Amino acid sequence: MKNTSRRDLLATAAGTAVAAAITSPATAQAGPKPIFPVPATTIPIVGETDVFQVRRIYCIGRNYAAHAIERGSDPNREPPFFFQKPTDAIQNVAIGEVADHPYPLLTKNYHHEVELVAALKSGGTNIPPERALDHVYGYALGLDMTRRDLQNGMAAEKKPWEIGKSFDHAAVIGPIHPVAKVGHLAKGAISLAVNGTVRQNSDLDKMIWSVAEQIAKLSEAFELKAGDIIYSGTPENVGPVVKGDVLLCKLDGLPDMSIRVV
Ligand code: MN
Repeated sequence: MKNTSRRDLLATAAGTAVAAAITSPATAQAGPKPIFPVPATTIPIVGETDVFQVRRIYCIGRNYAAHAIERGSDPNREPPFFFQKPTDAIQNVAIGEVADHPYPLLTKNYHHEVELVAALKSGGTNIPPERALDHVYGYALGLDMTRRDLQNGMAAEKKPWEIGKSFDHAAVIGPIHPVAKVGHLAKGAISLAVNGTVRQNSDLDKMIWSVAEQIAKLSEAFELKAGDIIYSGTPENVGPVVKGDVLLCKLDGLPDMSIRVV
């Protein structure tokens, strides 16, 4: 019998597997298959045919001083806090489109929150702030839509207010603009108008915690990974919308984003 070492056998087996994977992608998926397909959530990228696949949606709360005050907290004292929305809550809005956005179930006080969104291409834990922006792939305009009555009702009962933030279409977002094209967005006007009347109007430089600091803080609690996106908080003057309203979001350096509540 030929004297073949175990290492040689393993090497041969691995080589065969690699070759099979290259010639036939289907064979790479060994083991049980899902009994039904669940589509991946993706966001278009400006100037690219490939798309950004979303892993998790993080949101930071009360990150502009004037908004923290209107929500009843002290902007000088509180550390940042975060919540998540389900990945499939994404509603993509194309440039130049006025996308129909369904008024959600249960609420009678449905609020807009315009926000800068950072999209990560990599991650880690305990990321130092000075390295944090290295993980950002790009930026987008977003709306952290909120069922305010449900959020406030649960908060008053000291229950989780997830039902106010996490629901279908709750994470409205425009296409992602790669850092390679637009750089890092740390200052610039951000605004939201409803039916032509400006409601929210601030500047990214008024964030209490910068995007870099948000990534650093988040990575103390979670291992961040490629595909994670972070809604970076909304300025003051959040408020209600009703069916028929047209929302127009603006951010210096990016194309506008617009939805119609239906
Ligand atoms: Mn928000």
